[in-house]
Amino acid sequence: FELERLGVHESVDAVFPPAELTDLLADLPIDVAVVDDDGIDDCDAVVTLAYREAFLELDWIHSIQAGFDRFPRDVLEDHDVILTNSAGIHDRTIGETVAGYLLMFSRRLHDYVANQQQRRWERPEWDDAFTLPGSTACVVGTGTLGSGVAETLGALGVHMTGVRRSGDPVPGFDEAYANDRLLEAIGDADFVIVTVPLTDETHHLFDADAFDAMRDDAYFVNVARGSVVDEPALIDALEAGELAGAALDVFEEEPLPEDSPLWGMDELIVSPHAAAYTRDYFRDVGEIVRENVERLETGAEFHNRVV
Ligand code: NDP
Repeated sequence: FELERLGVHESVDAVFPPAELTDLLADLPIDVAVVDDDGIDDCDAVVTLAYREAFLELDWIHSIQAGFDRFPRDVLEDHDVILTNSAGIHDRTIGETVAGYLLMFSRRLHDYVANQQQRRWERPEWDDAFTLPGSTACVVGTGTLGSGVAETLGALGVHMTGVRRSGDPVPGFDEAYANDRLLEAIGDADFVIVTVPLTDETHHLFDADAFDAMRDDAYFVNVARGSVVDEPALIDALEAGELAGAALDVFEEEPLPEDSPLWGMDELIVSPHAAAYTRDYFRDVGEIVRENVERLETGAEFHNRVV
């Protein structure tokens, strides 16, 4: 297709100012402009966070997220719309965020921050704090996110196991399991970290059986998508003391409703679907878009093509 005008949809504003990206791409031999819903008609392609039905008239959509569960893939295919995503850029951000969650739990930092709000000088119980070397983290989904987590936690001395469909070894992981051995893999771990895409196969992958299989002193971390987890089952397990705690970046309903019991639980860290945020986000997305504009010129297959 002919690419003359690329829109940066205003919905990306939730993650970075759209004009940062248009400035970055200003040297491309095409028109790049920030567009709202009314401006979509004038474009051939769009870089976006949100999905709009009007995008079906375009030739190419680039999602600034790695997850593409918000896009109707069958419908896009029927309309001959190409969809590319931003997989491959979130390894370091997610790895550091997850390392942060684990260090907050092990070094009790979340308690000190909470106490500080109330000017309270309170030390932990003698056996609450621990160190990470020697502990095991099981990462479910060994792609970009999972590998970034393994690299960061591996450097902190954590023994890394991974779960993926094939079970083949992955660099950075000490052991890999096929997903039919999920319960066995998570049953051994001090930390279980979810980094799989949301698909029909992974919807509610973490249900009551999975939380049953986990140790009572294990922490659960979800930086993937809310619906990979049966959230009421997680809440039940936490309330029953069947898990030590959880760090959650994603939820079945976002923003997390004010009346969710998750807000008020001890040993629970809530982050607002921001684990991959970085001031360099627009640069990382820009590189993928630039690469694909160049590939379009040379007729090469798009990088990160999903549909
Ligand atoms: P990748 O495609 O790089 O990795 C996904 C991995 O999951 C693959 O390695 C795949 O391995 C594995 N996988 C797929 N299906 C299954 C399954 N049924 N059971 C076990 N493993 C499976 O994606 P990313 O790492 O970039 O992103 C993963 C997801 O994380 C995204 O889809 C998105 O939803 C979420 N995300 C969340 C962010 C946040 O802000 N919190 C930021 C970025 C992403 P194999 O093929 O071997 O099975």
